[in-house]
Amino acid sequence: MPRLHEQHGRYPQANSVEDFLRNLAAVRQRIAQACQRVGRDPAGVRLLPVSKTFDEAHLRLAYAAGCRVLGENKVQEAQRKWQAMADLGDLQWSVIGHLQTNKARQVARFAAEFQALDSLRLAEALDRRLQIEGRRLDVFVQVNTSGEASKYGLAPDAVADFLRALPAFSALRVRGLMTLALFSADAARVRPCFVRLRELRERLRQDAPAGIGLEELSMGMSGDFEIAIEEGATVVRVGQAIFGARALPDSHYWPAAGE
Ligand SMILES: *Cc1c(COP(=O)(O)O)cnc(C)c1O
Repeated sequence: MPRLHEQHGRYPQANSVEDFLRNLAAVRQRIAQACQRVGRDPAGVRLLPVSKTFDEAHLRLAYAAGCRVLGENKVQEAQRKWQAMADLGDLQWSVIGHLQTNKARQVARFAAEFQALDSLRLAEALDRRLQIEGRRLDVFVQVNTSGEASKYGLAPDAVADFLRALPAFSALRVRGLMTLALFSADAARVRPCFVRLRELRERLRQDAPAGIGLEELSMGMSGDFEIAIEEGATVVRVGQAIFGARALPDSHYWPAAGE
């Protein structure tokens, strides 16, 4: 297996529908192989293509290759693309990055899914705006499984109380937990983050409040999604292995990610 997260620059850019079809097929094959290793059904793993930093022309190629949900880390960028591509009526948007409370209004307008819920203030702001819009939103609670102070997400031992407060926000449909693993080339340090999320979910599931779904585990990206699948991921968020290497350093999207 290649060293994790060290493939930047090795992911070829996708510049045609054929390129996207080829990259998507390769990722799906890696998903299937990871599932096979642990006796899982690949149908139980959703591939979320992450289109951040790529321009509208490339997103349209991904759409032509069959992508109907795209993940974006930053809300302004997501909103801009949503507006530009409103002609594609069945294209949905998943916001996967940290959100400031004052941007809840935008997400409530256009997102189908939000994967980085990490505070009650934000839950309240989203719910209020969603009620006004007459919309509902699938959400994942983001958990900090790496213990890095710089990472967003709730501490694992804060999640139980957090979940107990969520039924008050009826426009939020809680689907599960999301995490970013430690940003390391060493699989032996990455895997425990995924294990921690799965074990947390098992513990919480026993007395989750009514209406709070914990079926989903969103974990794994281009460099580590196979490990995440081995540890139970039901959603993998994959950007570079589909779109090609990103020009911007990851620190632009994650505070203090290794550059
Ligand atoms: C960018 C991003 C990903 C995908 O990372 P790749 O290396 O492009 O696969 C996954 N999750 C989040 C939260 C991201 O911001």
